[in-house]
Amino acid sequence: MTPTDRLYYTDALRTTFDAIVVSAVVVDGQPHVTLDATAFYPSSGGQPFDTGTLGGRQVVDVRDGADGLVAHVLDGPLDVGQAVSGVIDWPRRFDHMQQHTGQHILSAAFEHTCGARTESVHLGTTSCTIDLAREVSAREIAAAEDRAAAVVFEDRPVRVRFVSEQEAATLPLRKDPSRAGTIRLVEVDDFDLSACGGTHVPSTGRVGMIAVTGWERFKGGSRVAFACGHRALAEHGRLRDLVTELVRQMTVAPADLGSTVERLQSEARRHVKTIRLLREEAAGHEAVALVAAAERVGTFRRVITSRPGWEMGALKTLASAIVAHSGCVAVIAGHDTPVSEGTPVSLVVARSADVSFDSGAWVKRVTTELGGRGGGRSESAQGVVSVPLDKVLTFARATVQ
Ligand SMILES: [Zn+2]
Repeated sequence: MTPTDRLYYTDALRTTFDAIVVSAVVVDGQPHVTLDATAFYPSSGGQPFDTGTLGGRQVVDVRDGADGLVAHVLDGPLDVGQAVSGVIDWPRRFDHMQQHTGQHILSAAFEHTCGARTESVHLGTTSCTIDLAREVSAREIAAAEDRAAAVVFEDRPVRVRFVSEQEAATLPLRKDPSRAGTIRLVEVDDFDLSACGGTHVPSTGRVGMIAVTGWERFKGGSRVAFACGHRALAEHGRLRDLVTELVRQMTVAPADLGSTVERLQSEARRHVKTIRLLREEAAGHEAVALVAAAERVGTFRRVITSRPGWEMGALKTLASAIVAHSGCVAVIAGHDTPVSEGTPVSLVVARSADVSFDSGAWVKRVTTELGGRGGGRSESAQGVVSVPLDKVLTFARATVQ
């Protein structure tokens, strides 16, 4: 079968076309048709496929066949020999063209400014990345971004031409061809020459802004995320809204956000330290009262009590303060507030050094019998159980003796 005439190869701005259906099959319940000519771009070279309508049917996927045919996956059947009109979803395609052309410019900018080669490219429907062969610094990224912006502002022509494999081999291509035979070249005037089958805008000005949105180390190099055109604008809008919200919450100027967060963090660290000291002091006083009122069972005095709303660290502090007194066993239960059904109970058990009571064994018993998990040593242990607080206290009163 004659390969599909790919109209987008020579006219990427074409949004409508007429064609004849040359084959129609159903694969996995979905109609697939091929045409004598198409402006629909199939997923390839990292660029996502076009959507739109064909003969009134929705085009849900477009695939590149090894036989040179472009398969259109539709939501309903068409007949072989039928004359059809195709309409490309232009906002989606134009977005892909902006990202794809922007990628050529950014990859070339990295090569021109710091010699970092692009190893692979991902052009998604929501995010785009290039993987560079070596790690790049923030300064190198800024320099490449600046260079890319200059190429956009100069509004250089982006041309497409076809050459033989032999001729392509003699040209200084940034990206070598991935196929044999006639090679399609995409040239950003006096800046970049690559073998590429994708769709591109006809001049660099139409890419709009090329913004690096983030980067990370990746396989010994750098993975650089970027956004072009409308996507860059949308990304800028998201960042602006975020900064506006943070500025409103902190009532500072945008430029002072960094130092404000630093100050808040250091204050928070100081507060945590102060709270710990105050809690220990309070636990010492509370322990004196609790031990004085403790009930004697056998060879020790026991303190069984609850502190709703206290987290594990606070429960431990109080238990430690109690068993600092001689002859005591402490069981303190608590849980986070507000309490809802199923809020687990945190449990701390400890004993004084002169008491023979196995805290770890008791926690094992309570978690086995009431359902939960936990463990520890003979001197102190902790657990979490999923029953109401009063049930834990009742169990403790019946078994800690
Ligand atoms: Zn390309």
